[in-house]
This record gives sequence, structure tokens and C-alpha cells, in this order.
Amino acid sequence: MSRKHVPFSEDRIREIAAQYPTPFHLYDEGAIRTNARRLNAAFAWNGGFREHFAVKANPNPHLIKILAEEGFGADCSSMAELVLCERVGIKGEHIFFSSNDTPAVEFEKATQLGAVINLDDISHIDYLERHAGIPELICLRYNPGPLREGNAIIGDPQQAKYGLTREQLFDAYRVLRDKGATRFGLHTMVVSNELNAESLIETARMLFELAVEFDKELGIRLEFVNLGGGIGIPYRPEEEPVDLESLGARVQDVYEELIPPAGLHPLAVMMENGRMVTGPFGYLITTAIHQKHTYKEYVGTDACMANLMRPGMYGAYHHITVLGKEEAAATHMVDVVGSLCENNDKFAIDRKLPPVAIGDLLAIHDAGAHGHSMGFQYNGKLRSAELLLRENGDIEQIRRAETLDDYFATLDFSSLS
Ligand SMILES: *Cc1c(COP(=O)(O)O)cnc(C)c1O
Repeated sequence: MSRKHVPFSEDRIREIAAQYPTPFHLYDEGAIRTNARRLNAAFAWNGGFREHFAVKANPNPHLIKILAEEGFGADCSSMAELVLCERVGIKGEHIFFSSNDTPAVEFEKATQLGAVINLDDISHIDYLERHAGIPELICLRYNPGPLREGNAIIGDPQQAKYGLTREQLFDAYRVLRDKGATRFGLHTMVVSNELNAESLIETARMLFELAVEFDKELGIRLEFVNLGGGIGIPYRPEEEPVDLESLGARVQDVYEELIPPAGLHPLAVMMENGRMVTGPFGYLITTAIHQKHTYKEYVGTDACMANLMRPGMYGAYHHITVLGKEEAAATHMVDVVGSLCENNDKFAIDRKLPPVAIGDLLAIHDAGAHGHSMGFQYNGKLRSAELLLRENGDIEQIRRAETLDDYFATLDFSSLS
């Protein structure tokens, strides 16, 4: 029996769909807040703890505002993400700017906002100095290379374009201090969608050990370490979520073992998760509009890969609930497909579902992160609306669906006539 549930009934979704046609993304505010509080509580032992929501996972200002109300900052990596935070009212060090291959204008904007700049390369020190100046507080992104394995989604650190080597870190902190920086942070991001807490705890240990080394060898005392994002979510019904309470307690154990004995307490612990913050609490709601019986059985939906690219791009599993048939036996093997002229536009391949009738509503799970945000307009597809299920049960449209006018907005037809 699936442990994946939907927090709404078929009737409620039919009511909503009467006003906002499918497909749309639906986010559960109450569940997002509860989860955010759990993460904060798990790390409450660390007085300086702050999670910076990775904006790329879901750049909707209404969600970022909700998370800011829960004490989260924001992790940005582009001009648009910085401006989004500015417009939501997230300020100063609550913005973490973890970019790579960064254009000068973005360093300038991040500096203007007082964001924490996280440098991806040693050569960016001079580049930043030339374009925006060296700030008082600066962070460096570490790539442990052969010292860590990474995981399937993020890959082998030695093949990753991100971060400085271990040797470069030592040089870079020295140079930054000589150039006037007085406050220092250390960041890494070794795994993504990781359900095994051990690798996250190992990351904390690696950064705490480096904090001790920098103090001993350079006389540089870190103000914070940022463990990156990467806490995974159970996309498959048989997978277990990361136990946040246990993760927090285990990181605390490593902290107590390494940091106070070295005289480095207090050291703030930061994170920048995206996926686990909104992923499980967002659903792509779509209507079955066709059935096709050829060499395989197909269910055709009114959504496509433009609404959720992960299955097509990574072969990722996303659970599907046929609304109103939650308790029915999954007896029919089908491919659930969209309308893109690309054969990887499939939400599920060889999936056993209850018999799907035309007009049935499907909820595609775990679409709250890297879902709408990865949308695109290839094949003339328009991005769908985003709706928020408020804690009081109301529905609020937090992004309207795109129209043909939006699609054509960057074209000038007048010169053709
Ligand atoms: C993508 C990304 C994150 C968020 O990753 P999740 O897997 O969504 O938690 C955090 N930090 C950086 C630098 C990233 O690129």
C-alpha cells in the first residue's frame, strides 16, 4: 500500500479546476510551514543556524515570503533571483549568493543588497575586487575532489565545475584577509537528493575539521559553515525521508566533538536546501484527456514536460495518484504522457495505476521543487498556473498561467507586414 497521500479530495480539486483549468501546480502552505519548523527545531541547538531556501527550486515570491516568515533566508545564483529576494523584502545576510561563472553585474547587485557572497573560484577574488570591492564578510565554496564521492545526481566532485580545491582555500583566505575581509564563512555542496543522512553528517565533519585547521594554520576563525543543500525526499513510496531530528542531533554530536575543544564555539551552521523545503508539498494536477492503445497502453494528459521536466530529463520517478481512485487496485500498466513532440515527454513509464478514464484528475507528487521552476516554452508550450492551498483551506492563485500574448511578447510582428 502506498504511503503517498494527497491532502485534498477529488471533489475539492474539481471545484478548484472549475475556476483554474488544469494543468496547475498546487502547494500546501500548512505542510510547508510545518516542515520548515521541523528543520529549524532540529538545528535549534546551534544559535546561529539559518536555512537559506535555494530559490531555483521554486522561485515564487509568495512561497519565499512564507519561508521568510519561518526565519529562512534565500540562496540565489542569478540576477533574477537576487531581484526577486529584494522585491520580497529579504535583506542583507539573509541572502546567500552562491553563484558560479558569475557576471560582474551580479556581484555588483549582491554587494548592493549586502548579500553574503560565496566565491566559486580563487580567481573571483580579483574579479570581485575590481567590480564590486571585497566585502567585510566573505564565503568560499569548497570542492573536496577526490576526498568525497558525491552522489548520483550531483556526480563525482572531481568532475564538478564548482568550488575551490583544498589548497586554494588556504591561499584564498589569506589573500582575502590581506585585502581587508574580516569575517569568513566556508561552504560546500557535495550531494543532491540524498536520503542517507550519513553523507550529510560527513559533510558537517569535513567542514568542522577545516574550521579547526584554518584557525590553527592561518589564524582565521570562521563565523559559519554552510553545509549546502541536498537533503533528499522520498519520491518513491518505499523510500524513507531523512529524519531531520536525528540529523540535527548527529551534526550536534560532531560539533561538540570538534568545535568547543578547539575553542571555536560559537560557529554558526547554515544550510541551503531547496528540494526538501517545498518538493513534497507541491503537486502537479492534470487531467487525463486521451487514451491510446498501440504497442503500449498510454494515458495522455493536458500537462507535459514543460510543467515537470524531471522524469524526462533524469528518468526520475514521480508518484501519481488518480484522484477518487486512491483505494483502487493498481491493475493497469500504462505510460503517462504529455503532448510534446519528444518521446521522453513521459511522466511515467510502465506504471501500474488503477484504470484511468478520460476526464480523471491525476496528482503528480513531489512537484513542489524543480517542477514549475524548470518550465520552458519549447514546442509552444505555456507555463501553467501556481496555486496555494492556504492553511484555512482557501485557494490563492500565486502565479497565473501564461497566455499566448506572453508567448509572443518578445516578438515584433509589425515589421513583417
Ligand atoms: C541546487 C542548489 C541547492 C539546492 O539543492 P537541493 O538539492 O534542491 O537542496 C543549494 N545550493 C546550491 C549551490 C545549489 O546549486
